[in-house]
Parts: sequence; C-alpha cells; structure tokens
Amino acid sequence: MFSKILIANRGEIACRVIRTAKHLGVKTVAVYSDADTRALHRLEADESVHLPGNLPRETYLVMEKLLAAAKATGAEAIHPGYGFLSENATFARAVRDAGLVFIGPSPESISAMGSKSAAKIRMETAKVPLVPGYHGANQDDATILAGAKAIGFPVLLKATAGGGGKGMRVVESEAAFSDALSGARREATSSFGDATMLVEKYLARPRHVEVQVFCDRHGNGVYLFERDCSIQRRHQKIVEEAPAPHLSAELRARMGESAVQAAKAIAYEGAGTIEFLLDEDGSYYFMEMNTRLQVEHPVTEAIVGEDLVEWQLRVASGERLPKLQHELAIHGHAIEVRLCAEDAENNYLPSTGTLKLMRIPHLGDGVRLDTGVREGDAVTPFYDPMIAKLIAHGATRDEAATKLARALEQFRIAGLKTNAALLHRVVSSAPFRAADLDTRFLERNAHVLKSDESLRFQGAQLASMFIAASTSPVPSATGNDTHSPWAHVDAWEPVGPRRIPVMVEDKGVPQRFSLVDEGQGRFAITHGPKVTAGSLAPGVHVDAPYTYRLGDTVGTVYVHRVDDAICVFLQGENITLDLPALRFDGKDPGTGDFKAPLHGRVVAHLVAPGASVQAGTPVIVLEAMKMEHQIVAPAAGTVTAFLCAEGSLVEDGTLLLTFEKAPPAAK
Ligand code: ADP
Repeated sequence: MFSKILIANRGEIACRVIRTAKHLGVKTVAVYSDADTRALHRLEADESVHLPGNLPRETYLVMEKLLAAAKATGAEAIHPGYGFLSENATFARAVRDAGLVFIGPSPESISAMGSKSAAKIRMETAKVPLVPGYHGANQDDATILAGAKAIGFPVLLKATAGGGGKGMRVVESEAAFSDALSGARREATSSFGDATMLVEKYLARPRHVEVQVFCDRHGNGVYLFERDCSIQRRHQKIVEEAPAPHLSAELRARMGESAVQAAKAIAYEGAGTIEFLLDEDGSYYFMEMNTRLQVEHPVTEAIVGEDLVEWQLRVASGERLPKLQHELAIHGHAIEVRLCAEDAENNYLPSTGTLKLMRIPHLGDGVRLDTGVREGDAVTPFYDPMIAKLIAHGATRDEAATKLARALEQFRIAGLKTNAALLHRVVSSAPFRAADLDTRFLERNAHVLKSDESLRFQGAQLASMFIAASTSPVPSATGNDTHSPWAHVDAWEPVGPRRIPVMVEDKGVPQRFSLVDEGQGRFAITHGPKVTAGSLAPGVHVDAPYTYRLGDTVGTVYVHRVDDAICVFLQGENITLDLPALRFDGKDPGTGDFKAPLHGRVVAHLVAPGASVQAGTPVIVLEAMKMEHQIVAPAAGTVTAFLCAEGSLVEDGTLLLTFEKAPPAAK
C-alpha cells in the first residue's frame, strides 16, 4: 500500500478519497485553487499545495503543476477523482513517466475508451450491441446529416469527446439539424476542445443502466452489479439507484458478463463503468465506458458492502481484487440523489452564491452524505455546481426511498437555489415508487413533480407566525423597563388585542397577513376574508423543527431567518419568503427579465435588434458553467437593443438587452 497519495481534484470526491486514505493509514496531499483556500478538501488532507488561479485550466487541469506538487510532497501516487484529468490519457502517461502511480487504468485503456466513437468501433468488433448510428471520421455537415437521415429522426448528436451531457442535442427533424449541429459543436469545442460529432438513433423510452466493473493486474475481473441512472435532466443524472429495478437475474448476469468482457478486452485495471441503454424490450446497447470512479459509486458500495476507493488503492498498489465474483452479492437497495446549486424551475440553470445556511440531516442508519462544502462556503461559477450527494440504503427499495425522503426533509440549504425540493418530490412520487423509470422521467411526470401551491401558502402562513412571534416588545410608556406589563407583545391594550401586520413576498408576489397574538405561540391569522387558527412552538433543541398547527393540520417545520428572507422547510419543500420591508434598494423585482442570471459569456444574439418576436422566441444565448442557456422573450414584442456584444463576458445581474412589449392586440 502507498504511504502518501496526492488527490488531483477538489470538492466532495477529494474528501471522499481522503476518508478512505485515512482509514487505510495513507497520508494525503490536497491541491487547491484560490477560491478553494478554505475548502473542506484542503482542510481534511494532511498537506496541501496551492495552485494559483481559479479557472480549471490554470489550476486543477495543469498537469505540470500537479506532478510538481506530488514530487515536492513525496506522494507516490495520484488519485484523479472524476472529471478534470481523470480520463486524460496524457495525464495518466505523464504520471507514469514521472515514476508515480496513476490510480486508475493505463493510458492505453483510457485512450481506447476515451472517444465515444473509438470505443464504439472497439465494441462493434467485440460484438457488443450498439445503438444504430454514424460514428465515422468524416465530419462534413452533409455526411453527418446523411447518417442521421439513414437512421431516421429523431436523432441524438453527441460529442465524441463528450461527458456530463455536454455537446449533446436531440434533433427532431431535418429542418432543425443544421442549428443543432452548430450548437453542439460550439459546446463541444468550449468544453472539450474537440468538435467531433457522432449521431445515434434517439431511443423513445430507454433506461440508463450501467455496470460497475473492477479488474486487477493479475487477470481478475468482476462486476459489482448495476445502477439505474435513468432520472436525468439535460442528459445528466440526478437520481441513481442499485440494483436496477425490474431486472431479471438472467439479464443482470448477462449485462455484467458483457461488461467484464469489454473491460478485459482492453486489459483494463481498476474501477470502470460500462454504460448501457436498456430498451423497453429488454435489449441493451453499449453507450460508453467511463474509465474512472463514478459520482454515483456510493449506491454500489451500499449494496455490496465494499469501499470502492479502498479497492482502487489496493489494485493500484498491485494487490489482487479484494473479492471475486462468487463472493459478491446484493444486499438490499440503495438510492442516491445529487443536490445541485441550480434552479429546477428555470431550466436547471446553475445557481451560484454562498451557502448561508446548510444544515444536514441525521446520518447513520443507512443514510450517508458525501459533500465537500459546509455552511458559509461559496458555490462559485468555476466548478461543478453539485453541493452534496445524499444516499440511503434499506432492506427494500421502498425503505431506501422513504429514508431518503425523510433525510431530504431535514436537509436545509439557503442562500442559493437548489434542486432539493424537486429531488424530494421525485423520491416521494408514485411513478418513482412504482419504479416506472426511463430517461425522460422528469419530462413525462412534470405534472406530478410541480411544487404544491397550497403547501407554499402554508409556508407563508408559518412565516407570518414566525415573524409575529419575533417582533420585539413594544416600548414601555415608562422608559426601558422590560418588566413593565406594557412592555410585552401580549400586553393588554385599551383598544383590544394587538394586530400585527405581516407582508412577505413569495417569488415576488406579496402575501399580506394580519395576526393576533393570543399568547403561548398561538395566533389568529387573517388573510383576505379568511381567518386561520395557528400555533408555532420551537423544538426541544436549537436545531430541532418547530411544531405547528394550521387549522386542522399539525406537523413539524424548520424555519430560518436568512438575511432578508424567511426560509421555510416544509415537507421537503423549500419556501423562501422575502421580507420586502427590509430591502433598501427599492427596485421593482419585475425588471430583472433580461439580466444575465449568472456570470458567463454572451455566445450569440439570435435576432436582429428591432425584430419583433413572439412569446417564447429565444433571443440570446449565454454560456455559463460550460453549458449554453437560452433566454427567451417573455411576451410578444421587440428587442430594441443588445447591450452586450457577442463574445463578451458578463457578470450576473448585467442587463443584456432592452425589450419592448407589443401593445395588446385590439379586440
Ligand atoms: P455523456 O458522456 O455526456 O454523459 P452519454 O453518452 O453517457 O453522454 O449519454 C447521456 C445520457 O443521454 C444517457 O444516459 C441517456 O439518458 C441519453 N442518451 C444517450 N444516448 C441516447 C440515445 N441514443 N437515445 C436516447 N437517449 C440517449
């Protein structure tokens, strides 16, 4: 076993690797960028080396700096984590040439699987089934279009160097082909520096089922069963589980064995994942191989009871696989959700900002949290917006899902937008509980995954009680004598009980309440003509939920004041109620339509200034966090001017264009 390793990564995966290294008595060296000076992964490692700058290409992607850091600290091996240089054959080779061990497969294996098209050619030879399509070297528009027409629309364009759903476009018809091709190439160039495309038949209702494989250099190879990662947005996974539901033992073994064969065919070593699309009729097709540890590896760890990072370190240091196939079995079921800083209600636009509040659920008893951040940390535009992975393991799928939902209800994040509420709705939903899965689960079930408006209103009522309960005592008539009966909120007043007006804004919409404090946490809450009897009582300790009553409903709720907002965490929903009275700028919240929602670059103006557009017409493309985001016209009207040139970098909040709504049509 190694005595010291360097982790060429950051965030949760760096912390994850450090955890196992500590357990094995292996010392760790972290690397960190400027923005990560106080990051958890740096603090948890035994030593750390600074990589000046922030952009990945100045820091976590600079091979020479990483190698120099390893040399300077005497590390014997480098763990690349996932993302960054983890699937970079040049890096794996440079590590080897520097006399160090790359904790992963050989550069040859990485190259063999590095390009999706090269991997397909290899798999074709090995008789592994492929999705019909074109993956040739000729990259003329006409050739790619001919490939698409040969299989028939809809098709999927993919960057051969792709990953993370980037550089991918579904094309419904020939008319949309040329725009989609240029968009996909642009995204591929900016993310991977390679615009090569392949085209595949777009399957109607596939599931994403992937097999975890592991091989050592002594000729042993095993599969650690499969994961279903069908629940995705933008072709990126957000919920993963193991084992895959509704898979027969026979199909499981067949897929597992083809995966091991595929790995052995390239003399693979270490952890790898073979991704398949599983069609409704039970046929499966090879998609790609990921030659590294996956984000979702914890669900496999849970069901097989093994530590995959430990396996990686053992195999990389020359040991045999800790277990062989016949020693591996599935125990129960595990589900993981990826909590990301993003706006699930606005096309999953990444969100950045400070984690002003981050309270984690009770862990243990099958609930695990992998994260690289804590309260007070920032989610910056430089790196992946994933905040944490929450994993639940139970004897059955239902038990795991219920545990996960409970844990999500206790997880409280404020300061930026997250997908936590959506994840809670997913794992609690009937289609998920019935394991009715396919890669368009989110679109297909959009109607059941919407936020519940009546719950939001209850959240506003709860916030109104929270505010009323914390209004300071009225000043006493005789000065600052807090013992005076006049000094208390519940003081008798000759004009009758004290009415407390409360105004909060839910997504910019004002909600007005008038509360009468009836003492001991009880209130009469008036909203319009309706009066509701309510109560709110703090929990037994500082981080326990409040108990509440609203009319006939009783329950528990977390309420936190975060800056100028009250954040209500109610049954998995995260309801932020702004306190407009506390805002000083006095700006109309409705003017933000054309502000850049995050730090990024203007890619293209999609219409000419002065052109009239319909509601929903895309008008400008912004690139942020390596993804393209379109901003659309909110109503029919005219783009009067673009305020930021194509190619320019913009801060979030920058006004991008001016827009004039068309006058309503005469009746
Ligand atoms: P990446 O490497 O960018 O993650 P993948 O090739 O792994 O891209 O595909 C990501 C996801 O896109 C898959 O999990 C699946 O949901 C969807 N997908 C990929 N290929 C197809 C296809 N041919 N038909 C339908 N969906 C597909």
